[in-house]
Amino acid sequence: MKKLFLILIICVSFLACGCTTKPAKTTVDKIKERGYIIAGVKYDSKPFGYVENGEVKGLDIDIAKAVALNILDNENKIKFVQVTPENRISKLMSEEVDIIVATMTDNEQRRQVVDFSAPYYISGQAVLCKKGLDADPTEKIKRKKTVVVRGTTAEKTLSRIYGKPGKVEICPNYNYAFDIIKNEPDACLIADEGILLGFAGDNGGYVVSNKKLTTEPYAVALRKEDETLKKYINHTINYLESTGELEDLIDKWIK
Ligand code: GLU
Repeated sequence: MKKLFLILIICVSFLACGCTTKPAKTTVDKIKERGYIIAGVKYDSKPFGYVENGEVKGLDIDIAKAVALNILDNENKIKFVQVTPENRISKLMSEEVDIIVATMTDNEQRRQVVDFSAPYYISGQAVLCKKGLDADPTEKIKRKKTVVVRGTTAEKTLSRIYGKPGKVEICPNYNYAFDIIKNEPDACLIADEGILLGFAGDNGGYVVSNKKLTTEPYAVALRKEDETLKKYINHTINYLESTGELEDLIDKWIK
């Protein structure tokens, strides 16, 4: 009788704990149940992620929409959440967003925390300053005030150039950095070339160095456990690449 009672207790607790045989929901399951994907994107990094007439657009946005199309058969089943270089990883890890498509460089340091898709664009850091200051600002950058955005790979480049920080300003986002560049005549900004050219294209009187300080492969960031999601994203990027659509998108936004 005692034995029977024990077996009964074991069976009941097995059932009560959900039998643990049911696999935990993946992020892809959650995206499909929710009916839309949540993508962390930039709002101030033209031509990758920016807002115009109330609409978020750019190369990153089109990549995110292509992922939505692949998972949900509809590129508009997507919610955009604004991220900055500083907060994007924490927004991903706290599950506020499913993916990050935000001019984010895949590098070894970040791989300790997050996973990355295949790259969809290769950039490199350059230097922007007012025209006439210097034809090649990279050589004389130490004499100027240098501006970078916190949480970017440019912040690392800055400490490499200076050793110890000198006349520098580390900004919370690109809009803030661009304001300094506009208002302080001898300030230089180190950032990815495409972002600098986006600003220079909209604002006359600036020069972007030809010399690249680094190579920056942009990839979609996701949480490490999200293997199925990674397959969807890589499939999307491979498809865009093999059909020539990726090149068309890059031409549309950048060249
Ligand atoms: N690609 C660089 C990075 O991931 C800079 C661009 C950005 O602000 O995201 O840090």
